[in-house]
Amino acid sequence: MVYWMQRAHRALDNPALEVAVRAANILRKPCVVFLAPAPLYPHANLRNYRFLNQGILPIARRLEERGIGFVLRRYPYHHLPRFCQEVKPALVIADENPMREPERWRQLATQQLRVPFWTVDADVIVPSRLLMKEQYAARTARPIVQRLLPEFLKPVGNTRAKVPWEKPDGLLALRPDTDITEDWTLDRSVMPSSFFQGGTDEALKRLKAFLQDGLANYVKDRNRPDLDATSHLSPYLHFGHLGPHTVALAVQKADAPRAAKEAFLEQLIVRRELAVNFVLFNPDYDSFECAEPWAHKSLAAHVTDARKLYSETQLEHAQTHDPLWNACQQQVVVTGWMHNFVRMYWAKKILEWSKTPAQAYRTAVYLNDKYQLDGRDPNGYAGVAWAIVGKHDRAWADRAIFGQVRYMSFQSTSKKFNSVRYVEQMRALVEGRTEVRGVGI
Ligand SMILES: Cc1cc2nc3c(=O)[nH]c(=O)nc-3n(C[C@H](O)[C@H](O)[C@H](O)COP(=O)(O)OP(=O)(O)OC[C@H]3O[C@@H](n4cnc5c(N)ncnc54)[C@H](O)[C@@H]3O)c2cc1C
Repeated sequence: MVYWMQRAHRALDNPALEVAVRAANILRKPCVVFLAPAPLYPHANLRNYRFLNQGILPIARRLEERGIGFVLRRYPYHHLPRFCQEVKPALVIADENPMREPERWRQLATQQLRVPFWTVDADVIVPSRLLMKEQYAARTARPIVQRLLPEFLKPVGNTRAKVPWEKPDGLLALRPDTDITEDWTLDRSVMPSSFFQGGTDEALKRLKAFLQDGLANYVKDRNRPDLDATSHLSPYLHFGHLGPHTVALAVQKADAPRAAKEAFLEQLIVRRELAVNFVLFNPDYDSFECAEPWAHKSLAAHVTDARKLYSETQLEHAQTHDPLWNACQQQVVVTGWMHNFVRMYWAKKILEWSKTPAQAYRTAVYLNDKYQLDGRDPNGYAGVAWAIVGKHDRAWADRAIFGQVRYMSFQSTSKKFNSVRYVEQMRALVEGRTEVRGVGI
């Protein structure tokens, strides 16, 4: 049995791995996980590959404890069909990912494999296809997700393999602590984050800390970037180092007010799975074309409105007149993560300062995918679409540049939290001072 681990990089509570092991046990065959990173993914850079790399050792350790084999290869030896020719599996299982590129890789594998090939939707709780079509907003997705939740929000299981895997002599398998990026041609300009260390063990530590110190105050403090009170789990969820079942079940059991648990699960399940739904069913998820007709029409009517313009380079280097916006951009460049409340503001201002909404969309996706450790994720595309073309939102009163897309002003946004403190925290981060507690730590 081969499990091609593509998105769900974990050996804990992984539904795709669970299906693979159970099938292997029924067939009395050994099970092996094939993990083979390649730098061919759009926006691949040193920051996100270092994080991915840090997650490999914990995978290997947990697989060994469960009697499951592990074969790590790296580009240019990353081809699944070649590996399958060597180990001759009865069945191949992969995890699903709604994004265009990995879906293409799976389609190619389907053409080349000569054995049954199954995929499992391992990184959402309610399988994405059960939402049937692109959902208009959280209010249309929520009832479907909530109706199906009792069926799917259950412990995943971490079954042991009955027939242990024995590596055939001569089979190529790298040590799990290999530097997978060595000698790759890769964008090395974005440095690894010293604020986030990848891997399931690190993710579990963050989850534990959040349950102890953050969850109870989530309703009150979640929109306060200066307090930095959210879970910081998004990079781990993005790389699959931690799965949503683990997080949701731990939150349900935690000692915290019901309103806090509900508010957190709304983000983790409804909003996150709405984003996956958007990417799965909207082929234009990473471009302005994804907008609803009302937003297209309204933004087009304002495309010639006078505006302050910044180039993509000025934005990337946080060279605007707005100290709050610059602080947001600095946060993500330095730490690899940005607080949700300021992500909204950050993207809205890109719309305000770009020549066209289509250009704004491209710039926001480019910067988000380049610097955020959780970038290149359905949540990122849905977040940019919400901010720039009003996706999952509604039409608001018409105004300059934004048309009917919701506007956020510096005045109102900076009053909703201690923005002066946040700007000072980011300045301290950039200057490497430690006296002000940095965000994302
Ligand atoms: C313009 C813009 C860009 C964004 N880009 C990304 C991105 O690239 N990757 C990404 O994972 N998220 C993105 N988000 C969504 C959100 O900002 C982050 O998921 C959140 O800030 C992560 O921090 P956290 O883990 O501490 O969140 P918490 O508040 O602790 O929430 C827990 C989990 O719920 C999910 N979640 C929280 N807020 C949202 C949301 N608004 N939409 C969907 N899921 C949510 C995330 O998986 C998050 O890890 C973006 C939002 C906007 C407005």
